[in-house]
Amino acid sequence: MKQLVVLSGKGGTGKTTVAAALVELAGRAMIADCDVEAPNLHLLLKPEITKSYTLNVSRKASIDPERCTRCGDCVEACRFEAIREFRVERHACEGCVLCARLCPAGAISMEEPEGTEVFMGETPYGEMVWARLAVGEEASGKVVSRVRMEAQAAAVEKGYQLLVIDGSPGIGCPVIASVTGADLALMVAEPTLSGRHDLLRALETAAFFRIPSLVCLNKCDINVEEAERIKEECASLGVEVVAEIPYLEELAEAARLCMTPLEVAEGEAARLLRRLHEKVMERIGLPASQKGTLH
Ligand code: SF4
Ligand code: SF4
Repeated sequence: MKQLVVLSGKGGTGKTTVAAALVELAGRAMIADCDVEAPNLHLLLKPEITKSYTLNVSRKASIDPERCTRCGDCVEACRFEAIREFRVERHACEGCVLCARLCPAGAISMEEPEGTEVFMGETPYGEMVWARLAVGEEASGKVVSRVRMEAQAAAVEKGYQLLVIDGSPGIGCPVIASVTGADLALMVAEPTLSGRHDLLRALETAAFFRIPSLVCLNKCDINVEEAERIKEECASLGVEVVAEIPYLEELAEAARLCMTPLEVAEGEAARLLRRLHEKVMERIGLPASQKGTLH
């Protein structure tokens, strides 16, 4: 099974639209929405939910000051240095429960936030896994890993040849969880100053994990100078720009109407997306235009 991750340095570049188009054109693929902080691929692909469960990844220790005797055992035991002045620094706590087990005064309890929900469903183009983060959930890297793990297991079990991952924006822990082990990263970038910087950081992240990258320049006509700069920088890095898609009102309209790109795209938009799909499939080593047979 091949794994294709679609990335962008930040949100709003059209990453999900491109991911949806690739899924549609693959005909049948396993799909993972790893953009867990703003999942919206399911809004376009409209899966019918077949299974869901609650995941608790963000429990944190909490010290009751009334019961704490200030013995210091927990401070010494916490290898994440999450306890300072007999208070738990929530961002540093990994929820390992060690301190709660050790505390001789029984002063430490674990707070469990409302669970994150993980969903599996059937779309017209293949099965899909996605998640909805609990309010206040910070451990999105762990949730991304779970979504990928579920999708990979289902893909292997059911014999899918392709897993399409809508990756997390940015470069932090969730992105690393989205990209590691992928066969190919498709970077969707828009030609703005920040878009160029974000793209370069995303390319660096992929290169660090030795994942080959391709670039899709979206809305390439909104800033011709920046588009040229991106192409020059990609050329100097040896990264191929496989598509230059101008700002197309029909694609923006499709996203607004929660429709897949190919449901509305005609003419130029459809041609560009098909060409992009062919190039991506060629690079990843799967046959293109296999609608209905990639399973
Ligand atoms: S181990 Fe318990 S009693 Fe000791 S300092 Fe920590 S919270 Fe307080
Ligand atoms: S739960 Fe683990 S990580 Fe969190 S404060 Fe306690 S010992 Fe440290």
